[in-house]
Amino acid sequence: MTLDINKIRKDFPILEEQVHGKPLVYFDNAATTQKPRQVIDEMVKYYYKYNSNIHRGVHYLSNKSTDGNENARKIVQEFINAKHLHEVIFTRGTTEAVNLVANSFAERFIQEGDEVIVSEMEHHSNIVPWQMVCDRKKAILKVLPFDDNGELMLEKLEGLITAKTKILAVNHISNSLGTINPIREIIKIAHAKNVRVLIDAAQSVQHKKIDVQDLDPDFLVFSGHKIYGPTGIGVLYGKEDLLNEMPPWQGGGEMIKEVHFEGTTFNELPFKFEAGTPNYIAAIGLGEAIKYVEALGLENINAYEQELLAYATEKLSSIEGLRIFGTAKQKTSVISFLVEGIHFYDMGMLLDQMGIAVRTGTHCTETVMQHFNIDGTVRASFAFYNTKEEIDALYKGILKVCKMFVH
Ligand code: PMP
Repeated sequence: MTLDINKIRKDFPILEEQVHGKPLVYFDNAATTQKPRQVIDEMVKYYYKYNSNIHRGVHYLSNKSTDGNENARKIVQEFINAKHLHEVIFTRGTTEAVNLVANSFAERFIQEGDEVIVSEMEHHSNIVPWQMVCDRKKAILKVLPFDDNGELMLEKLEGLITAKTKILAVNHISNSLGTINPIREIIKIAHAKNVRVLIDAAQSVQHKKIDVQDLDPDFLVFSGHKIYGPTGIGVLYGKEDLLNEMPPWQGGGEMIKEVHFEGTTFNELPFKFEAGTPNYIAAIGLGEAIKYVEALGLENINAYEQELLAYATEKLSSIEGLRIFGTAKQKTSVISFLVEGIHFYDMGMLLDQMGIAVRTGTHCTETVMQHFNIDGTVRASFAFYNTKEEIDALYKGILKVCKMFVH
């Protein structure tokens, strides 16, 4: 099915906005995506009509909100094809989900001298939590490197794994390079050596269909706001047996069975890992966002975004002095670039004056920047509501900036 982009764009009110008197061209989708009316309306509906704290009440409103939250959990379960509903845990986002796993998994499974592997192209949120637990546990953090195209050096993985390796944490798609990593192979290699795997799917669930039973990661995490849902909600998927073995991370209401001063017993999954009042309205918004994306079809979304990527790569590559960082064979719709002699902040700020929103800096991947010995890049990331005309505007905008910098 070909997507009707003009019709789709009408679902996203923000795309009609003007910025500095120019029509908005939003190319910062890897940082966060815009929200369709359907998501916003559903959340507003709950605030207007049904809002009440969940899981605690016997009254009508509480039941409505609880049902909304649990229905969203079901939508997520079906979306990623988790075997059990209680394998879906709601968090604040990817960052919180990684912190939850790092802390709880380490508490149960990581001892002094053990090893954790991450890749060189991780977002800070999939490095720092592991570094913190490794420091605490006196464990060792090892790094799987990538090459100058931005592809992981898979041939080095087996050599990195030892009998002490407990877990490998890697992203499915890099937010700063766009590389699609061969996670099926990575998971196979790790599992053959009894190493658990966490997949950071923050940049992939919005582009590619994921089936956790087929792919077989031990954990998979993502954020609602990058898949056209609201901020403040994310997902941790984990295998039931593993989650059952792991201790709770945060304590508080909801996660307990019985509390006595002599000791506390904990609730069952998924509530054991959901302390406190959850962001149920955001969970409901996430459910609606997933329904929206599924109605368009991830295959259709991906096909169109690949078209945008190819078009933009060709246009931008033709600009003299422009270098793209991240030239992997398998890429998603992210282009990180620099133009010789022009600082990324200058480029970003001047494009902004033309109404074009791109991200500048390290994109929370300082180790990627260190690999290329640069301080940052300009990043344009495309979603299914973007158009070739908008890419033309970016192309012309970059040329205009280049002209300004010619002395
Ligand atoms: N991992 C990747 C690959 C990301 O792109 C991001 C967000 N930029 C994160 C993790 C962190 O997500 P959040 O800030 O929503 O927790």
